[in-house]
Amino acid sequence: MQTHLADFIKDTPHGIEVDAILRNCVHCGFCNATCPTYRLLGDELDGPRGRIYLMKQVLEGAAPTARTQLHLDRCLMCRACETACPSGVRYHRLLDITKPIVDQRVGRSFFKTVQRRVLRRVLSQPWLFGLMVKMGQTVRPLLPAALKRQVPLPSRSGPRPASSHARRMLLLEGCVQHALSPDTNAAATRVLDRLGISLVAAREAGCCGVISMHLDAEHAALAQARRNIDAWWPYVEDGVETIVMTVSGCATMVADYGKLLAQDPHYAAKAERVSALMQDLSAVIAAEQTPLIALLRSARNSGGERIALQSPCSLQHGLRMQGQLEALLAELGFTLTDVPDAHQCCGSGGTYSILQPELSQQLLAKKIAALNSGGPSAILTANVGCQAYLQTATDLPVMHWIEALDARLKRTSLN
Ligand code: SF4
Ligand code: SF4
Repeated sequence: MQTHLADFIKDTPHGIEVDAILRNCVHCGFCNATCPTYRLLGDELDGPRGRIYLMKQVLEGAAPTARTQLHLDRCLMCRACETACPSGVRYHRLLDITKPIVDQRVGRSFFKTVQRRVLRRVLSQPWLFGLMVKMGQTVRPLLPAALKRQVPLPSRSGPRPASSHARRMLLLEGCVQHALSPDTNAAATRVLDRLGISLVAAREAGCCGVISMHLDAEHAALAQARRNIDAWWPYVEDGVETIVMTVSGCATMVADYGKLLAQDPHYAAKAERVSALMQDLSAVIAAEQTPLIALLRSARNSGGERIALQSPCSLQHGLRMQGQLEALLAELGFTLTDVPDAHQCCGSGGTYSILQPELSQQLLAKKIAALNSGGPSAILTANVGCQAYLQTATDLPVMHWIEALDARLKRTSLN
């Protein structure tokens, strides 16, 4: 596609980046068929090709309107279009760069501005989010049924083995997981402990920045990335093997640190190293699966129950690990049901379920129907946002897959 970028962005680092992205797009439209919002709304401007066209206009100097902003806001950032694109168009970067420009020119109502600020503040501060969840859980019994489902039931973290192995990996604790699913990181620590690996966390590390990025606050996201790099760097220098993510949404953000900070002379090299060291937990376990398979087989622990896997968009499309978690779980003896349209988003999309509730609820209903269709006894996922959102719409237990694996390993110890 030919481009003629406007002076305000031409020759800037962002301008050079978006120009290369736009030039890769040949406008073939292969991406539209896979886009959840295009499938729901049937409007070209609610699909990736139309959104790319809208963004190109803005970057070439056209004045964006409230409709431009609406079509961009309706994007889930699921990145299914990137998986489908034969030309390798990095759509999410185009959106990351263009949306703040549109927001700045079009503006938002007072309510929407405050809503986005509050979301950013609450979701990226574990203590604050934890407090809000606790308050919700306290009044949960008094809430009407529809509202009750939105508040997760209280649950506890199991024990974490002390760090005692020579092999060490770093864990990002995350912002919301400790409140919504407190046993996930503990389960990861227990499973890796069985494999002779200690998981350690850097106290100063915090939000990966993905929430700020989704809410068009790139500066804040980059500040969070730099803070994490500073917190992790002593461990990296000390030879930590891997930086492990138990939330696939965070993994996509940390995978991008190298590219996002490429122009920062103080952080570029460190960010690239951190991104290279980062792995989603499923990749870590896949590399170490042999002793686990042997253990589960020797204890004749085949799992037995049928489970449905909801593979998050961040895992499939963001990290390009489509099918890998399914293959790992099958190797480990889980019986996976077929899930139609498994590449489609559940509607959670970071803060999308709050900011675009109508579209999000339609996607959630479709996803739950697809997950239920194989008659599973539980739903597994790899991203706490999807986990909490799916749980609002089903009575089946929804959990991180590592908790299901940990439970099976526990049973082998009892046999
Ligand atoms: S983003 Fe990719 S698939 Fe979509 S129109 Fe452009 S080149 Fe085609
Ligand atoms: S990121 Fe998802 S919702 Fe947005 S344009 Fe691409 S496929 Fe559609």
